[in-house]
Amino acid sequence: MKLIMLGPPGAGKGTQAARLRDALNIPSLSTGHILRTAIKEGLGVGPEAKSYMDAGKLVPDEIIIRVLKDFLDKGENKKNDYILDGMPRTLSQAKILEEMGIEVDAVISMEMSDQAIEDRMKWRRECPKCGAAYNLKTLRPKVEGLCDDCKEKLVIRDDDKPETIRTRLAAYHKVAEPILKFYKDKGKVISVDGSMDIEESTAMLIKILERLD
Ligand code: AMP
Repeated sequence: MKLIMLGPPGAGKGTQAARLRDALNIPSLSTGHILRTAIKEGLGVGPEAKSYMDAGKLVPDEIIIRVLKDFLDKGENKKNDYILDGMPRTLSQAKILEEMGIEVDAVISMEMSDQAIEDRMKWRRECPKCGAAYNLKTLRPKVEGLCDDCKEKLVIRDDDKPETIRTRLAAYHKVAEPILKFYKDKGKVISVDGSMDIEESTAMLIKILERLD
């Protein structure tokens, strides 16, 4: 099963991608996490991507396609099942996926208002090592300030500053409609209210996805 997670930053697509990855036991590619790691390490696409990410802008398609190809070249990801979290972010990326012969089974669209997202993002924290997302109000780590899995100190993402969030939301709205329409026309979209309880959303999604099998 190939799944795509769509939605504005902060609507919970990364959280649901990670929960579905664990529940369905399939790998997931978070383009945002790969880019942040590459920037931190100064390796691969990192130096090229940095200025775009710092400004809250989208990284050029060509860089994202390199990240995707790297992911697909790795042993465990060569199988047919995976979750793409954070791509496609432009209609051209959606078309490139199609040209690459990647046929998507479902597109999960996490939906939430900008105001609710801005409120939620104030509390967002991330593990810099594994990329797991936490929220100090709704998804707290077991030990304050530390990642449940890696025990790494949680951080605020550089691009989670309120000004950058607004730029990212504006960038999202500009490109999201055409992508959603592209997949709606193919009957692939499952819409989820991003403000719903996290566990309930996962359970609902698993039920819907089981029916697709
Ligand atoms: P995310 O972690 O998905 O919120 O992504 C964080 C940032 O990474 C975005 O604001 C973009 O700058 C960049 N990014 C991630 N995925 C993509 C993509 N598919 N296309 C372009 N830029 C991306």
